[in-house]
Amino acid sequence: MTKHILIVGGGYVGMYTAMGLRKLVRTGEATVTVVDPRGYMTYLPFLAEAVGGSIEPRHVAAPLGQVLKGMRVLTGRVTRVDHEARSAEFQPVQGPARTLRYDILVMAAGSITRALPIPGLAEHAIGFKSIGEAVHLRNRVLAQLAAADSTDDERIRRRALTFVVVGGGFSGVEALAEMQGLADEAVRYHAGIRRSDLRWTLVEATDHILPELHADLGRWTVDALRERDVDVRLGTRLTSLAGGVAVLSDGTEIDAGTVVWAAGGRPSPLAAASGLPVDRTGRLLATEYLTVAGVEDAFTAGDGAAVPDLTRPGEFTGPNAQHAVRQGKLLGRNLVAYVRGRRLKPYRHAYLGSVAGLGHHQGVAQVYRLKLTGVLGWLAHRAYHLGWVPTARHKAAVLADWLLAGLFRRETVQLEAIEHADEDFRHAFTAEPPASAEAARQAPAA
Ligand SMILES: Cc1cc2nc3c(=O)[nH]c(=O)nc-3n(C[C@H](O)[C@H](O)[C@H](O)COP(=O)(O)OP(=O)(O)OC[C@H]3O[C@@H](n4cnc5c(N)ncnc54)[C@H](O)[C@@H]3O)c2cc1C
Repeated sequence: MTKHILIVGGGYVGMYTAMGLRKLVRTGEATVTVVDPRGYMTYLPFLAEAVGGSIEPRHVAAPLGQVLKGMRVLTGRVTRVDHEARSAEFQPVQGPARTLRYDILVMAAGSITRALPIPGLAEHAIGFKSIGEAVHLRNRVLAQLAAADSTDDERIRRRALTFVVVGGGFSGVEALAEMQGLADEAVRYHAGIRRSDLRWTLVEATDHILPELHADLGRWTVDALRERDVDVRLGTRLTSLAGGVAVLSDGTEIDAGTVVWAAGGRPSPLAAASGLPVDRTGRLLATEYLTVAGVEDAFTAGDGAAVPDLTRPGEFTGPNAQHAVRQGKLLGRNLVAYVRGRRLKPYRHAYLGSVAGLGHHQGVAQVYRLKLTGVLGWLAHRAYHLGWVPTARHKAAVLADWLLAGLFRRETVQLEAIEHADEDFRHAFTAEPPASAEAARQAPAA
């Protein structure tokens, strides 16, 4: 009998699992449905470069319908799973909710931004986890420079030129570095602003940054950022953002026009809300075979799952792309084996190390014991991540973007208007009408 496999989430795990199934499943063996609210997979390690302008944002997104041609891709959100009944509540982007029936479930909904109850955070900060946020941030940096250069109000100007990033992990550090790279480039085109007018602060609660890397590389990065005039505050927390003013735990108040919240993620709440077995942090409990522990016909992997790390007994694999891609690929093969009644393979991968790009042709990389900094670290970051960009088309597009940015400098056009595209049109209808019918007749034709 044909099995119906439902994959919840079309990120790293969901897309690579589905790609594997597409290749391996024989006709009549299984059908696959992938559900994702966006309809595309985001290549998150290059999100910061999309902010900085060296990669076009669309080139870090792989449309699921295209990559998984022939498979059912539904755009919307699974709001609850009833695994006993083998059914999931699905809310499409438009129209009423539907019920999806399945035989085998793959939970791959990843993680969401960790929201802390800090006053003003939700209203005034910007997250950094999606293409929408990356585009918004890019426009924001450029719009703030334009605003600062156009006002004669010193307070507004100072606020516009002040940027705070909270979180010293990969995403926070890379976001800050690329925002600064973009601003340094754009400043060249604003006669009224000097580079030294801009104020950058990185706030990190622990005493080190980039915890995934060796401590030496974290220290090197702190020094490199400080040399670029970034005020790196270690052992410091954001305690309030009420009224848009960032208050830090050391008592400092920063009137910042832009505050980026990159203080980590937490597992998607879907598994816990659906009564599936989770650990105390909300991660779905997995076995080394990427099945859900103690549950039949259910699989999981990635950021939202607690997968045992067989190379470090007693520990779990970390929330990173390196594991997510490999787990997704194995998951595809294990699902095929499961459908055919064959034995599943355990997940075993020793973490290779990590890379981070810091803009300005700088980066840090750790591959096993090898540590690279500066230009070599930057080249390693680009080469490693380019290798994992999902399709040949996207790889070519990213390479072309880098070539263009290298030859002609980064693109600094500010398209904030896109975010309010409907306003201009509506304004045409609400604009003051001519005073009388006579005036209307005399008004020049458009
Ligand atoms: C800014 C940033 C930079 C990063 N840089 C690096 C890096 O340099 N190196 C590295 O190794 N890792 C990096 N990571 C981490 C890496 O991207 C993640 O570990 C990886 O994406 C996890 O894969 P996943 O499939 O579990 O989750 P995701 O890739 O996040 O996919 C989850 C998918 O599920 C969908 N979804 C969520 N809820 C639902 C629902 N209810 N119904 C249906 N679909 C749903 C989401 O829309 C998403 O598409 C970075 C992460 C971020 C945010």
